[in-house]
Amino acid sequence: MKIIVFFFIAIFQVLPSYVFAQYEVGALRPPVQTYVSNPDHIISDNKVSEISRKLLAFEKKTSMEIVVVALATVGNQMPKEFGLKLFNEWGIGKKEKNNGLMILLVKDQRRIEFIPGTGLKKAITQAKSIEIQQMYMLSYFRADDYGGGINAGLDEVISFLGYYHSMGAAGLFFSGLHPALKIYLIIGTVGILVFLLFIIFSLFIALSKKDPFVAHKILHPLTHIAFVVLFPIHFILPLCIIYFLKNYYRKIPRNGPVSGKKMRKLSEEEEDEYLSKIQIKEESLSSIQYDVWVSVEGDEVLILDYPQFSEYKKCSSCKAKSFSFDKKRVISSPTYTNSGRGEKVWSCKNCSKTRRITYTISRLVESSSSYSSGSSSSSSYSSSSYSSSSSSFGGGSSSGGGGGSSW
Ligand SMILES: [Zn+2]
Repeated sequence: MKIIVFFFIAIFQVLPSYVFAQYEVGALRPPVQTYVSNPDHIISDNKVSEISRKLLAFEKKTSMEIVVVALATVGNQMPKEFGLKLFNEWGIGKKEKNNGLMILLVKDQRRIEFIPGTGLKKAITQAKSIEIQQMYMLSYFRADDYGGGINAGLDEVISFLGYYHSMGAAGLFFSGLHPALKIYLIIGTVGILVFLLFIIFSLFIALSKKDPFVAHKILHPLTHIAFVVLFPIHFILPLCIIYFLKNYYRKIPRNGPVSGKKMRKLSEEEEDEYLSKIQIKEESLSSIQYDVWVSVEGDEVLILDYPQFSEYKKCSSCKAKSFSFDKKRVISSPTYTNSGRGEKVWSCKNCSKTRRITYTISRLVESSSSYSSGSSSSSSYSSSSYSSSSSSFGGGSSSGGGGGSSW
């Protein structure tokens, strides 16, 4: 803890000389023991302590150093450039692992940036950064709840990096999976381990028997079990039965739930006159199939919906299950001097509802030192005054990467 306090005292002595030229130095209160640099009180005190507690616990568990910096302004500098300088001056992350991450919010430019240390570049990619920012943070920022947005985004970052820490590249893969698939994989893995243990156990039992006939008897059933695992042909029959029953239950003659009268299932052509425009659309997209049953006298109609596995989600506007991802495109390509912009588009295939998310494509980097050349203010502070603070973090460095979003 001492070193953290020391580090913040060091930062706040130095920061005013170049960042906060527009501030009165006296207005910057001494910080408390936190991982959060919040000189403009953009984040409430409660949230600062909540966030700090999380970050401290995470650092203890994983040795990863995550620092939140929330500033009212960085003048006319690019937030990313500014953050990168700060990152390397402070040396966030353990030196040998470069496992630091800076989350930088710049209020006047309405910008959030994730800047990973070199060792976390593969985890905190541009796509991942933007995904977390867009999905969990920006809505808070738009409502001026900066602490809430940082906190919500951090929860995602921490859970994601937690996977990465415990399982490496496999963790990145694992964290991107659907929750149901995760459970399936865990159960499957546990099942295989139990099965292997059972085989090993049986082998030992068999080997311990003096009578070869008894040993044979013990091993014999195992060949069948192994057969089930290696050739899952046994599952085909239950699947066939399930498939058959599903169809049977869908087609079995039924009576009207109100009148109790016998009903007839209409053909695809006949059923359209009973379906709404939305339902017809859903059928044509194969997102939902509808069966229409009509009583023989025609006085009772039953419409049954059978949702299908498809790419379509429910549209928030027209409520049809017809909303899907369309395309990702580059609006402007990045250069060595400017970042580019891209766009992802989702749309409803039933109404005109569309959703667009624009994202920044990092500008091209020639070498790890190139970021300093583009900066106009890098010469205005002296790095010698940082020498005392550079030891407080682990001495990690960043060469860029990560991503940012505007709101
Ligand atoms: Zn719609």
